[in-house]
Amino acid sequence: MRIGVLALQGAFVEHERMLQRLGVETFEIRHLADWQQPMAGLILPGGESTAMMRVMKDEGLMEPIQKAIKEGLPVLGTCAGMILLDDQHLGCMDVTVKRNAYGRQLGSFQTTYNIKGIGDVSMVFIRAPYIERCGEGVEVLSTLDGHVVAAKEKNMLACSFHPELTEDTRLHEYWLKEFVQQKD
Ligand code: GLN
Repeated sequence: MRIGVLALQGAFVEHERMLQRLGVETFEIRHLADWQQPMAGLILPGGESTAMMRVMKDEGLMEPIQKAIKEGLPVLGTCAGMILLDDQHLGCMDVTVKRNAYGRQLGSFQTTYNIKGIGDVSMVFIRAPYIERCGEGVEVLSTLDGHVVAAKEKNMLACSFHPELTEDTRLHEYWLKEFVQQKD
């Protein structure tokens, strides 16, 4: 089983390290040629969603990624990766995400909070978004101060924070078990 990690920009290496710790093989997706390899799942990391969208378009990766996700490829989107999934970007998940939702003062912070199906996890927020609209098929997994910070829909799991920047591997394990291995 190999997991593709979108490696155009942002915190992709940290996701690779996390999956390697779990004994899962990864490869980086930078160009269209990388996309031709078989993959059991895809990670859209945190970073800058505007930069990632631009490079994805330039590399011709946008349509194939969009199509594969819509056809059921398991995907984990964290922070900017969650933004990419929403109805204003790739249009895969039936959510609208508010970018930089915590303002400048609260640009970055860490807290511990509950995620349904996982338990209390340490959440690192960096100029984080939150989900401001959830469609009918979307299940909310975590709400912090009234705002949705983790949710799932069909083959997609998205969170506002950066699980790959902590030592806690449970969110990745949850995704692998509930989304990737379910498809095998
Ligand atoms: N603020 C970034 C954006 O709008 C997301 C931040 C992150 O991924 N840590 O794309």
